[in-house]
Amino acid sequence: MQVYDAVVVGGGAVGMASARALAQAGLSVAVIDRGRLGGEASSAAAGMLGAQLEAHAPDAFYHLCRASRAMYPEFAASLLEETGIDIEWVENGILQLARTEEDALALKSRMRWQRASGDRADWLEAAAVRDMERGVAEDVIGALYLPRDGNVHVPRLSAALRAAVVRTCAVVEGEEVIAVERDGAHWRVRGARDVYAAERVVIAAGAWSSPLLRALGVPLEVRPVKGQMFAIRPPGGAALRRTVYDAGTYLVPKRDGTVVIGATEEPEAGYDKRNTVDGLAALAAKALMAVPGLRGGEWLRAWSGLRPRLTGEAIDPVIGPWPGAEGLILAVGHFRNGVLLAPITGRMVTAAALGLAPEPLWLSFWPESRAAAFGR
Ligand SMILES: Cc1cc2nc3c(=O)[nH]c(=O)nc-3n(C[C@H](O)[C@H](O)[C@H](O)COP(=O)(O)OP(=O)(O)OC[C@H]3O[C@@H](n4cnc5c(N)ncnc54)[C@H](O)[C@@H]3O)c2cc1C
Repeated sequence: MQVYDAVVVGGGAVGMASARALAQAGLSVAVIDRGRLGGEASSAAAGMLGAQLEAHAPDAFYHLCRASRAMYPEFAASLLEETGIDIEWVENGILQLARTEEDALALKSRMRWQRASGDRADWLEAAAVRDMERGVAEDVIGALYLPRDGNVHVPRLSAALRAAVVRTCAVVEGEEVIAVERDGAHWRVRGARDVYAAERVVIAAGAWSSPLLRALGVPLEVRPVKGQMFAIRPPGGAALRRTVYDAGTYLVPKRDGTVVIGATEEPEAGYDKRNTVDGLAALAAKALMAVPGLRGGEWLRAWSGLRPRLTGEAIDPVIGPWPGAEGLILAVGHFRNGVLLAPITGRMVTAAALGLAPEPLWLSFWPESRAAAFGR
């Protein structure tokens, strides 16, 4: 039996970015997915690189998001060079709308701490917001403009990562991993059809990671948080250039002029991925309240996906080596930001696999430093 340097369980953006980085470091890598690489949350995402949008304080999570966002230009260029697939990375900026004085105060406070951290964040009065995006609602009193938060085309990102991984790794699709066990010096990754031996194993099974973690004695639980989305083509002449974010609803323009609109947050739905009339109707109503200029847009399609969230309301992931189990590496719980965090996750997983010292920023996400919170 071939012994791989690393087996990656789960081929979403997190698993594929990790596998690619491991292979780039010279390791022999196998990626095993029970479906098709990139077929779950990583193809459902809106593709926002919302480092400033998603962070709520100048904490380690914010800095991790910024570090990963900064990797995107090179990540996109190298994927294009390797695979010929353009992931359509754009730094189009995000407008976070305020409708009340209370919203404005909160956004201005966000602007101050982000500026103090060296980011760009600008307060725009109502007229300036509508100069920037004509279709925005009349009752908007201002907006925080985050010019560095961009987006990528997620199906293209999945396709590019898959192509890169297929070139450099052994890829097994359509085989579920049912157990990961230590067997002497190696890990045995038991699939439904085969057994794969490895020096290291990376758990990157998204919202389905819990049973594998439990069996490995890792006291971490990842739960699915369903998100529904839809895409439209704006009515003639009503193109959107910036991403508009209004109280949890976002409208993300893509390079072809279509707009991706999301997303619901439905933890109660469990693993049920069906689109629902009420979910989509509520989302459409909120989107049109934010940008009434999109009324009359053509409905294109709807879909949904399951964000992997660690229990305890964590918004941040756990990435790194699991203490006391040599060669066991976790990359789980990316929740709302797995696309944004894919490049840095690949780097962190590779450092863990090579036994390199983690950068100080990574320590907040390194399993060892978070072990106390898991009850170890
Ligand atoms: C509606 C929506 C909008 C989003 N928008 C954004 C956004 O704008 N920006 C952003 O950064 N993030 C966004 N996200 C979050 C992002 O999609 C996730 O954080 C990210 O995709 C998680 O990647 P992953 O690789 O961990 O999981 P997944 O992409 O779900 O991949 C996990 C993989 O593991 C496989 N697997 C599971 N169990 C097994 C097993 N036992 N054996 C073998 N394979 C297995 C699955 O088949 C799957 O392919 C969004 C998510 C949703 C749902």
